[in-house]
Amino acid sequence: MGGVDLMDQCVAMYPHRRKNKRWYTKVFFHFLDVTTVNAWHLYKMSGLEQMDLLHFKASVARALINAGSIKTRGRGRPSATPPRKRRAVSKAPAEIRFVSGNHWPQLTEAKNANRCQDAACTRKTKYICMQCCVALCPGCFANYHGR
Ligand SMILES: [Zn+2]
Ligand SMILES: [Zn+2]
Repeated sequence: MGGVDLMDQCVAMYPHRRKNKRWYTKVFFHFLDVTTVNAWHLYKMSGLEQMDLLHFKASVARALINAGSIKTRGRGRPSATPPRKRRAVSKAPAEIRFVSGNHWPQLTEAKNANRCQDAACTRKTKYICMQCCVALCPGCFANYHGR
């Protein structure tokens, strides 16, 4: 019972703004809030990094937006403009780095190799992770993604 009370408190902290007063819309958004709070508790238990509920919700939203843009690349309708060349970024957000996806090595056309972003590595590489867009040697993928 205590868990349920705590859950309701968490859900009430950042309630969804509901202009629509229809009962089934309310029920839907309530369960969406409950699901997010559940996920937040699981995330805290995983010991990745401490984050308050508001930041967690923002982070989930960002991850969902990114997931959409990654999925449509290549698979969706062919676009008139050629795909942009991927460039390495220095840091991948945890919500991309530690979730499953297309974490595969991709050889970039960069002139100079970049420093591998795995903390345990000091080599330079022309490979990047397709999903995280950070420079990584193929041998450092498992370590970098926490596997
Ligand atoms: Zn990755
Ligand atoms: Zn490396």
